[in-house]
Amino acid sequence: MFKESVCESCGAVVPEGKIGCRKLFEEVLVNDYSDYRYAKTHRLMVDAYSLQHPEEYMLSGKSFAAHLTGMYAALECEESSAVNRTVQKWLSGNPHIDKPVELPLERGDITIIYVHSAIDTEEHCRRVQQWADSVWSAWSEHHDLAKLLISESTAKN
Ligand SMILES: [Zn+2]
Repeated sequence: MFKESVCESCGAVVPEGKIGCRKLFEEVLVNDYSDYRYAKTHRLMVDAYSLQHPEEYMLSGKSFAAHLTGMYAALECEESSAVNRTVQKWLSGNPHIDKPVELPLERGDITIIYVHSAIDTEEHCRRVQQWADSVWSAWSEHHDLAKLLISESTAKN
């Protein structure tokens, strides 16, 4: 048995810390790909995990913008897939994006552990939503930036 330790990115207490945290995420992803009912929360889940692990998943300005705006689109916009498509198109042109120097250190009370332990699809989807809400409020200082990036992408398309 591995010793329980803390994932320094999201605070989850799991065997092997950060590595164990990533394993849980990957296990949930496998489920996502094997069952179409998970599809509607797939993008949100990837964005939520990225916002809790920006050291790995938001290194470039481009990945930063993609996950931040993805979260904004899912939680604040009516037409999230249309917004995501516009942002994607904009990002494919490699625009210059300044990533903020300071990212949140507190990234929400809910972690992948909560989503991983869901017993069925319905619970999974509900938990992803709760998780995303909690991550998003931890990122409240960057909501305006998300909005700005989205309007930039719209202006350029
Ligand atoms: Zn983690």
